[in-house]
Amino acid sequence: MSKIRMTTPLVEMDGDEMTRILWQYIKEELLVPFVDLKTEYYDLGLACRNETDDRVTVDSALATMKYGVAVKCATITPNAARMTEYNLKEMWKSPNGTIRAMLDGTVFRAPIVVKGIEPCVKNWKLPITLARHAYGDVYKNTEIKVPCEGTAELVFRAKDGTVISETIHEFDGPGIIQGIHNTVKSIESFARACFNYALDTKQDIWFATKDTISKKYDHTFKDIMQEIFDAEYKARFDEAGIEYFYTLIDDAVARVMKSKGGFIWACKNYDGDVMSDMVSSAFGSLAMMTSVLVSPSGVYEYEAAHGTVQRHYYKHLAGEETSTNSVATIFAWTGALRKRGELDKLPELQDFADKLERATLATIESGRMTKDLALITTLEKVTVLNSLAFIQAIRSELEAML
Ligand code: NAP
Ligand code: MG
Repeated sequence: MSKIRMTTPLVEMDGDEMTRILWQYIKEELLVPFVDLKTEYYDLGLACRNETDDRVTVDSALATMKYGVAVKCATITPNAARMTEYNLKEMWKSPNGTIRAMLDGTVFRAPIVVKGIEPCVKNWKLPITLARHAYGDVYKNTEIKVPCEGTAELVFRAKDGTVISETIHEFDGPGIIQGIHNTVKSIESFARACFNYALDTKQDIWFATKDTISKKYDHTFKDIMQEIFDAEYKARFDEAGIEYFYTLIDDAVARVMKSKGGFIWACKNYDGDVMSDMVSSAFGSLAMMTSVLVSPSGVYEYEAAHGTVQRHYYKHLAGEETSTNSVATIFAWTGALRKRGELDKLPELQDFADKLERATLATIESGRMTKDLALITTLEKVTVLNSLAFIQAIRSELEAML
């Protein structure tokens, strides 16, 4: 059998710990035997980030801008413990943070729905897609630990010398303050990314903030979304039979719990971070959630929504068997390959991505799965497979399909 052709390389961002092990298995078992895999490889594993003073992360984001499609493995965001574990020169920033800031995108996360894994919110019948604004707010904050009595002020100095200032608080003792920001440009591209995605996938879209309390910050998000919707999207939404509406974040949460799913929930950066974990866990597992960063210039970066699964990696290092779920990482690859196929007009590559996804779901539906899914499945006859055996089971399904 001749391998499926690629014409433009994918930007491949390798990562850390257990997901780095899965990455290798996926390539060896599910990709290289079938696809003439072309990638431009960047090692975002912590050791290499440390060696290159994190230059490799910036280079991988630049390559993504150049080629248009990337696939990323989960990576460690260093903390104090990692400083010693990896003997780091510096506490390098989160690679996702660096990449998102450079691509200025919106992250869309959707659960992978499969028979036998039922959401624990029983009225959820369809997937709920989270659209997370991926720039600014608390992720680009400046913080001060206030040591003593004093005045905290918020000051803006315009280029022309104009000064706008507000008192934050008169401290009569120690405390804390935080400065956050966003830009009109980034919020506008968030709005367009959300509305385009809603049109692409023909789903309603909801947006919510706390504008009753945050009358300038959150209210600006609300206003910009509405202005762009009315000016550029309303007619197309009417035509597609879908709707956009804004509500208060508390109300949104209540409605989401009572909904039947099948819509996009657009969130500010922090809400999106937290709510996507809630939605994915309720749909079954963090390991069954896809994630794609879409930039306003039309660049795509696909990844799994979960982390590096550190606990399983230490077991793996100790020579113990692991049963780590590779589904979200496989779907990161299929998402990227399908998009590459679409951009390069390679229907065979798109078809391969579809088949690999179907083979993955068919494997689970046949009762063969990893331990995390076995614990929550409604299927009766289940075989728990180890990390590699699960991927090999998908390979045999795939071979039968091809
Ligand atoms: P995690 O890697 O998501 O894992 C947390 C727990 O969730 C695991 O211990 C495991 O539970 C379960 N789990 C997650 N993914 C799984 C999978 N694929 N298969 C089976 N079980 C899975 O989060 P973490 O342990 O808090 O973080 C580890 C590292 O990941 C950190 O250094 C963090 O910085 C990084 N991280 C990276 C990203 C990213 O690159 N996008 C995102 C989040 C975190 P059990 O142990 O109970 O089996
Ligand atoms: Mg999170």
